[in-house]
Amino acid sequence: MANVDAQSPKQHSNVGTLVIGGGLAGAQCVHALREGGYAKTITIVGDENEIPYERPPLSKQFLQGSQTVEEFQPFQATWYSSAQVEMRLGTTASSIDVVARRVFCSDDTSIGYETLVLATGSRSRMGGRGSNIEGWDLPGVYTLRSLEDSRRLKGAFATGKRLVIIGAGWIGMEVAASARAAGMEITVLTPDQLPLAVPMGVEFGSHVARLQMDHGVHFIFGTAAEKIVNDPTEGLAVMTPTGLVAADSVLLAIGAVPNTELALEAGLQMGHGIIVDTHLRTSDPHILAIGDIAEAFNTALGRALRVEHWDNAMRQGKLAASTILGREETYDWLPYFFTDQFDLGMEYVGDRQDDDDVVVRGEMSSGEFMIFWLRSGVISAAMNVNIWDVNDLLRGVIGKEIPVERLVDVSVKLADL
Ligand SMILES: Cc1cc2nc3c(=O)[nH]c(=O)nc-3n(C[C@H](O)[C@H](O)[C@H](O)COP(=O)(O)OP(=O)(O)OC[C@H]3O[C@@H](n4cnc5c(N)ncnc54)[C@H](O)[C@@H]3O)c2cc1C
Repeated sequence: MANVDAQSPKQHSNVGTLVIGGGLAGAQCVHALREGGYAKTITIVGDENEIPYERPPLSKQFLQGSQTVEEFQPFQATWYSSAQVEMRLGTTASSIDVVARRVFCSDDTSIGYETLVLATGSRSRMGGRGSNIEGWDLPGVYTLRSLEDSRRLKGAFATGKRLVIIGAGWIGMEVAASARAAGMEITVLTPDQLPLAVPMGVEFGSHVARLQMDHGVHFIFGTAAEKIVNDPTEGLAVMTPTGLVAADSVLLAIGAVPNTELALEAGLQMGHGIIVDTHLRTSDPHILAIGDIAEAFNTALGRALRVEHWDNAMRQGKLAASTILGREETYDWLPYFFTDQFDLGMEYVGDRQDDDDVVVRGEMSSGEFMIFWLRSGVISAAMNVNIWDVNDLLRGVIGKEIPVERLVDVSVKLADL
């Protein structure tokens, strides 16, 4: 058991529920706790200096200048004080003593807990195979995870027009759209042959490629970035096997890595994330994990999964609160997410696999269509593109066996499928 006096922390305190990570999942958890009548003390330790905010606008509305941060904070600063949630912002949790039930922080303080909720989210991936891509730390190279990152990236739009984006995933494509709107010249480097085909398949990937190219985004497919250099003649540039691609700024958008080190060092059971049960409890009965870091057992799908999306963070925050409040709710909803790029708005629900059959309803060339994925004739996932207020209906058809002729027949109402 740790001797807190031996470590001379400046301050010891004890709380009912301690949340590490002031992101969306953590904020939803403490809000749902208070809404549910939780009367014990609550503290959030968050390493950012901001009260919790949602990240989707960082690559979209905030980057485009059409939303202010106050518009995407799930709860205003006054709510935390009125709900007596102590906010320890700008503070990093450095280690957990699971025996003493105490968390040690970067400011030499320590906090004892009855229940600990890990909600540490993800950070930007900086390279492959465990090492950062060479040149990641050069001036003019950006990543996008935090509000501060988004502000810096936006500032870069004023310093030169050529933005090279490494990676053609969600963040790369959303930033490409926002940066084009700001008049930037975009080159996207990707080892793949299409954007987003890995998570979403070639049909949607081809649609996004066309959309982006129609808006002037230039792709270099099948080409990996080898390193980022400050070339004496070219200036900032990305080195590829076929030559240098010159840039005024470079965005590294090659995915995210879950912040699971605290849990690993504390000896919690780990898989592709922190393993939690269907109530979001880790292998330690006093510790829960939620959001991007949690590999949770989903009762609707009958398997464990880790999901890096907004809806998951929101719902798991609430579910963790209900577990702490002693309710028996479970992780039983289908994964959902959305994207916005140029004039495309998309929502997806379900659990597609690469070898599922694909059925398109409507004309993709019209820009308004749906995609259904089927596994052995059963709908596994569905997507609506530029057709609104239908996602709940799509959620309702997942798991059903519906003849393909009816799925593609736009004269059959979705509600009648
Ligand atoms: C630019 C961007 C755009 C996105 N767009 C979409 C979208 O369009 N649709 C969608 O579905 N999803 C989107 N997402 C994903 C979604 O935002 C995340 O899945 C969600 O934020 C996860 O919430 P979280 O609370 O688990 O983690 P986070 O939001 O990452 O919050 C975790 C917090 O914990 C802090 N922290 C980490 N370690 C410590 C520590 N040791 N001590 C203290 N604090 C710590 C972190 O700094 C952070 O503040 C986007 C993400 C980004 C970055």
